[in-house]
Amino acid sequence: MMNDLFAIPVERLQGVGSSKAGELHALGISSVGDLIDYYPFRYEDYRIRPFHEVKDGEKITVQGTIASAPVLQRYGRKSRLTVRVTVEGLLLSAVWFNRAFLQEQLAIGREITLTGKWEQRRRQLTVAESEFPDKGTAKTGTLQPVYSVGGGITQAWIRKTIDRALTQYGAMIPELLPAELVSRHDLMPRREAVMRIHRPENSQEGQEARRRMVYEELFLFQMKLQAYRAANRKQPDGLAHRVNNEEIRAFVGGLPFELTDSQKQVINEILADMKRPYVMNRLLQGDVGAGKTVVAAVSLYATVRDGNQGALMVPTEILAEQHARSLAKLFEPHGIQVGLLTGSLTERKRRDIIASLQMGLLDIIVGTHALIQEDVFFRRLGLVVTDEQHRFGVNQRSILRRKGMNPDVLTMTATPIPRTLAITVFGDLDVSTLRERPKGRKPIKTYWVKHEMMDRVLGFIRREADAGRQAFFICPLIEESEKLDVQNAIDLHAQLRQALPDLKIGLLHGRMTPAEKEAAMGTFAAGETHVLVSTTVIEVGVDVPNATLMIVMDAERFGLSQLHQLRGRVGRGEHQSYCVLIADPKSENGQERMKAMTDTDDGFEIARRDLELRGPGDFFGTKQSGMPEFRLANLVNDFAVLEQARDDAAELTAKEDFWTSPGYARLRDYLLREARPQGEPLD
Ligand code: ADP
Ligand code: MG
Repeated sequence: MMNDLFAIPVERLQGVGSSKAGELHALGISSVGDLIDYYPFRYEDYRIRPFHEVKDGEKITVQGTIASAPVLQRYGRKSRLTVRVTVEGLLLSAVWFNRAFLQEQLAIGREITLTGKWEQRRRQLTVAESEFPDKGTAKTGTLQPVYSVGGGITQAWIRKTIDRALTQYGAMIPELLPAELVSRHDLMPRREAVMRIHRPENSQEGQEARRRMVYEELFLFQMKLQAYRAANRKQPDGLAHRVNNEEIRAFVGGLPFELTDSQKQVINEILADMKRPYVMNRLLQGDVGAGKTVVAAVSLYATVRDGNQGALMVPTEILAEQHARSLAKLFEPHGIQVGLLTGSLTERKRRDIIASLQMGLLDIIVGTHALIQEDVFFRRLGLVVTDEQHRFGVNQRSILRRKGMNPDVLTMTATPIPRTLAITVFGDLDVSTLRERPKGRKPIKTYWVKHEMMDRVLGFIRREADAGRQAFFICPLIEESEKLDVQNAIDLHAQLRQALPDLKIGLLHGRMTPAEKEAAMGTFAAGETHVLVSTTVIEVGVDVPNATLMIVMDAERFGLSQLHQLRGRVGRGEHQSYCVLIADPKSENGQERMKAMTDTDDGFEIARRDLELRGPGDFFGTKQSGMPEFRLANLVNDFAVLEQARDDAAELTAKEDFWTSPGYARLRDYLLREARPQGEPLD
């Protein structure tokens, strides 16, 4: 039984004392079951290859005969041991570093297998490992698993220990998948697959084992998501908003523009969700400039009209201020009070705001992360909207729940999530998509230029300024050094002032005080500065429709999605807009990104290419994304399996007898133990 393996502590294995057990715990391994489930991430290939096929620089294993007496050279404590070996009738030299003790074993005529790196030019093999067939070989001819290890745990030790665990307990590895799925997809039984993944006899077998385990991993993941979802659906513990359609229509009628069909449709989806007595957990995705803010505004309006409060959470103070300003303009005529809560408020101001929230004097609060945490309480929170990749995690939802609140949640993102990821990462979310941009928008023209063309770039700025338009000039990004970013911005600002003395050039960077930032942003938004030199602090969300020119310096340093975000700061009004990427033409992967940017301004296409270039792990920028981490599956390569697994899981959970039939007992047990995505209990 599966449970049994997880109940056996690793200390039970021979060779695992308390200190080794401690090191294993640090790798997340505490039971024999955990150890057996600790899969290798690749294999070291010790299979003997035909020598004539080997290419320069490859790591190879060859078998040959020693053909000369060994030569040992010593350099202080270091040494170099050389011998000639015949392989397939050809002579090569084999070299060992710091293995002087091997000298006496290298007898002429003796057979030897060598693993190492081949250097074609010098016809030399730098030996990493060697074995003598007359003494019996352990590794030659095999694929050796390579595990992720650390601390006091070595590759050799973990191989040996996992081997022992498999020999001793392998027979207890249970089948988890329903028999019908195993046979439908012609999968290896679980016990065999686990054995083979650790000790594949050949690569065909290793691949079959991997196929089985990848399917299982993705299937179980989908089962968890779907079971979680089903369980959540059953509990009508959310707020059933009462929505008056007439009121909503009147509010929409008072907006300064007509909503696009796409905006109307997603608003309908959101309001329908808000009316239900379940907690809404909906993702709104729409390309930059698609008009998500107004969708949020209508939803917030609906919650306030029903007697609740609404919160809008954003990633930066600049955005918070921008949204607070525009929402206040929109809502104040309706007698709706909007407040702003950010980290830079004075303590006194902050306490004022918090008190007003608690008493219900404020209807809508806009702010950064701190908004929903710590000492902030609401009188009656009905809806939380989070903007721009600020994913509202399950943990945050449980913070609110602990405060006795169970608001509906709308998450907005401009990083369109390819369907691949949407069904994995956001499998527990409902998704709405804004497909069209507001009418009359012209596509942004994008150019890729070299640094030598700076004069023309300056001319471009002047032309737009003369036409009454404005420009952003983004400074190069120095990874991990905000200080250098800031210095770049200051330098570029000085250069532009010199080159364009009659234009007003503003400056914005992360080391400025909040008041300075607000002033810089404010004068630019008001049209009082022609050019805003900025670090990436304006990357997301900033909305200045009169800005028509986005220039990015050293564009090859930016990721594709980031460039697309930056470009999205222009093209927000009726004027033709431009994006100029100043990039080094020699930068190799930069080229692909520049090409993607000039090829298309469709955010979905950009996201797809970004995923291709960077792989899913990096897609959202590391950890905070909430991307699930898989042991074996790779979301790009194993996508077809993922879709299959999702369909199979849906089919199974919909079955009448899934929750009762003894045939699924083991799978149900597993789900009951594991169905806690991101650590939140099911209740
Ligand atoms: P994003 O989806 O990137 O957050 P915004 O909500 O900031 O986009 O909207 C971009 C710009 O388009 C804003 O200036 C907004 O006022 C304007 N806008 C939004 N919807 C429409 C519409 N239906 N018609 C015309 N302009 C619109
Ligand atoms: Mg926005």
